[in-house]
Amino acid sequence: MAISQRSGLADIPAYRQGSAAEATSGLVPYKLSSNENPYPPLPSVLAAVGASAADVNRYPDMAAAELAQAVAAQWGVAAENICFGAGSVDVASQLIHAVANPGDQVMFAWRSFEAYPSLATVAGAVPQPIPLTADGGHDLTAMAAAITPRTKLVFVCNPNNPNGAVLSADAMDGFVRAVPDHVVVVIDEAYVQFNQNPGTAVGIDLFKKYPNVVVLHTFSKAYGLAGLRVGYAIAPIGLAENLRKVAIPFTVTNMAQSAALVSLRAPAELAERVRAVVSERDRLYAGLAAAGLPVRPSEANFVWLDCGSRTAAIAEQFEANALAVRVFPGEGIRISVGEPEANSRVLETAAQLAALLVPAL
Ligand code: PMP
Repeated sequence: MAISQRSGLADIPAYRQGSAAEATSGLVPYKLSSNENPYPPLPSVLAAVGASAADVNRYPDMAAAELAQAVAAQWGVAAENICFGAGSVDVASQLIHAVANPGDQVMFAWRSFEAYPSLATVAGAVPQPIPLTADGGHDLTAMAAAITPRTKLVFVCNPNNPNGAVLSADAMDGFVRAVPDHVVVVIDEAYVQFNQNPGTAVGIDLFKKYPNVVVLHTFSKAYGLAGLRVGYAIAPIGLAENLRKVAIPFTVTNMAQSAALVSLRAPAELAERVRAVVSERDRLYAGLAAAGLPVRPSEANFVWLDCGSRTAAIAEQFEANALAVRVFPGEGIRISVGEPEANSRVLETAAQLAALLVPAL
């Protein structure tokens, strides 16, 4: 007899990791499918990781106290407001576990970060996806109107993954005011450092203004520590205490803590890397648009091609050029900003596509 397992899991898709690039026709392969930082770790980070390797026989500090102090000082909040996890995806999961009872609803725009629906379902909650507007923005009016007595948590992804769209400060402020106080609004700012749009909502400002706002940040993207797994929530203290209760103990290693701490002490290096990624993103956008591809402006470290029914054909060309991109069948393609050579290859691919597909594009 088959072993007895929890029901409902058959409907949950396993998280799909960005695929690795295959070496094709002698080309150097590039992975542009996971919104990673293409630049190698800072020397100071490598040194901190090396030094903390000597302690791996010991459990890490569960509270990550030194890092919590540093993060709290950065944002002008108390260390008690900061809760860590193995990446911000882990903290998002903690939030759902801490807030939603079985059967409660977790709202998010769709399409957005792929993990939201499965994190909600795994936690026993019910995903409540609200379609993006025709121009790819969060439909905040529809989201506010769709809140039911069972809606307990709303994720707002700003800039949004996968299309890089941002929300204005005014729109977001109006939304938080429209949401009942007992519903938690989580502003997921995984890509915030790449955002150059001055009118955009700022999570920490909303956190300081409203009692039901939580901000999610990560060291995986701009800081380039995706492999070490450290992200955090800035949450009201009462909720933060419960996040620590639902967290799996010791997920944030000493290595991750010391690498994050050293990264916070190198703001000039961070700014320089962010500037390089943003300038490459703008080069990608301009080149893709000039080739006639359906690219939309992005404030993150990726760009989105709204390919619709042409998605498979366009994806094939990237694959043929040894570029791994994130393909959403029938919808579009997300291309992470990579090394300059990788981005140049994307633009060469765009030129080939323009020749192949025009006027159908
Ligand atoms: N939020 C968003 C919007 C993301 O795109 C991602 C990563 N793809 C995450 C959170 C989680 O990243 P991490 O767990 O590495 O912090």
